[in-house]
Amino acid sequence: MQKTTTAIVLRSTNFGEKDKILYLFSLEDGVISAKLKGVRGAGAKMKIFSLPFCLAEWELVKGTKSNDFYTVKGANLIDAFYDISSDIDRYCVACIMVDILKNCTYYSDEVNSVIYVALLKSLKLINYTKVNAKLVLCKYLLEVLKANGYGIQVDKCAKCGIRLSNKAYLNFDDGSVKCSTCRDGNSVELEMGVLACIKNVTEMDFDNLEHTKIDTTILDKTLLILKKDVELRMQFNINFAQIV
Ligand SMILES: [Zn+2]
Repeated sequence: MQKTTTAIVLRSTNFGEKDKILYLFSLEDGVISAKLKGVRGAGAKMKIFSLPFCLAEWELVKGTKSNDFYTVKGANLIDAFYDISSDIDRYCVACIMVDILKNCTYYSDEVNSVIYVALLKSLKLINYTKVNAKLVLCKYLLEVLKANGYGIQVDKCAKCGIRLSNKAYLNFDDGSVKCSTCRDGNSVELEMGVLACIKNVTEMDFDNLEHTKIDTTILDKTLLILKKDVELRMQFNINFAQIV
């Protein structure tokens, strides 16, 4: 059985003496595991194809048994996003984003295609521009929430409908945002800066992030809140140890 597919490397693990198993994500097939032979040997030509974020057109083959792995027969590089790895902060942000897509693949396919597109836009920005990588992560987390039906509504109180201008509270039990009178459950205050940050970044396209300046403290606070919201809504953990 043979197939050609465009996919990105989510991660890879060592296999046998010189091989690696790649976990690829493609729009058509979701996650595919594929063996890349001999890639850990000295001077292996296909090393770049085993690195995270490597986007390529893959030629895959597998035997007829249902539990056979695909094996990589060939690959045409589309983009290795190679510069991301030269900056530890950017690299960490990109790893977090790839991990989130990997975790989301247990859910619906249509949702994942939206997240996949957001991931590619994010990686391009982080690799080719001087954008604040954390701001891209902020946008990405908001897109992940929205794609899964948990978009954060910061215009009006979810209960009484009053316009939220200064103080608002995010309820971690259901992801709703309410005013100070209606706040309930396990909720956290969204201070004015955080509220504005969520609102602005939600409305902004990826292309505008490059020229957007944002207060570092506010951005960190926003990221921590979004992280917790994604974790609770999606039921998986995100490791922020390296970045906030
Ligand atoms: Zn209210």
